[in-house]
Amino acid sequence: MSFKITILGSSGALPAYGRFTTAQLVEVQSRYFLVDCGEGAQMQLMRLQVNFHRINHVFISHLHGDHYLGLMGLIFTMHLQRRVNDLHIYSHRGLDEIITTHLRYSRSAPNFKIIFHLLEKGVREIIFEDDALTVETIPLSHRIRCSGFLFKEKLKPRRIDKTKLPPGLLIQQIAGLNHGHDIRDEDGAILYTNDSLTLEPRKSRSYAYCSDTVFDEGLAAQLRDIDLLYHEATFMTDEELKARDTYHSTARQAATVAKLANVNKLLLGHFSARYKDLTPVLEEAKSIFNNSELAIEGQEFIIQE
Ligand SMILES: [Zn+2]
Repeated sequence: MSFKITILGSSGALPAYGRFTTAQLVEVQSRYFLVDCGEGAQMQLMRLQVNFHRINHVFISHLHGDHYLGLMGLIFTMHLQRRVNDLHIYSHRGLDEIITTHLRYSRSAPNFKIIFHLLEKGVREIIFEDDALTVETIPLSHRIRCSGFLFKEKLKPRRIDKTKLPPGLLIQQIAGLNHGHDIRDEDGAILYTNDSLTLEPRKSRSYAYCSDTVFDEGLAAQLRDIDLLYHEATFMTDEELKARDTYHSTARQAATVAKLANVNKLLLGHFSARYKDLTPVLEEAKSIFNNSELAIEGQEFIIQE
């Protein structure tokens, strides 16, 4: 079952050196989610041959332009291509007004419904849930209201161990095993416990997206033991004061959060246009947290079960 993050944009503030502003496609068990939508996101989706009509939920972390200016273009293309499914957009206050103003002045009425969901400031909340996963906000500290997003698979059922199945079981009994029931005789006495015929569930995977944020050690408590953490790394340590003043983080600080939270892997992104070569950014993070990688356009990061 899929759990994959595709990087559409990794640049902070400005596009630079072929890097696009921030956007990611998150795929969990065949569901598509768009996380931030910087300028050019739709062109990146096209280049990577993603069927973006499969995206029904768009999560926007905050309303700095490098995180959402691609959204109008994407919405107009969806309209022109006669999308019919509802599009859910999750954002802090203001985006509904921005989008409806665009549509009003272009006298466009999309063929599909846009449903806005307002994020609460400074509160951790579940904003999406279905039978496979939840998406929670991660309150971040930035110059304006800003939230990260935590994608977490739900607990999975135990799996039937075919090598242990006794012969002659009824289909209903096997179905019962899938639902956690024991095998019982006609009088209700247990013949086989569920545990004895099933294997541990596959692990529930998790991905945290922490877009723009000042360094905050406290964030680690919210990110404990997750599989993959994306944390912005706009600057390197020699610009630590600038990072603090602009409510951004350095590669070292991103790595420190990853280490404190004991995550499995760290993805760095939102790079400043001052860095043409990103090798030193990666090296700085690796000196603190070795399992670090750069979030480069077009790359896919798969979380294994
Ligand atoms: Zn920002």
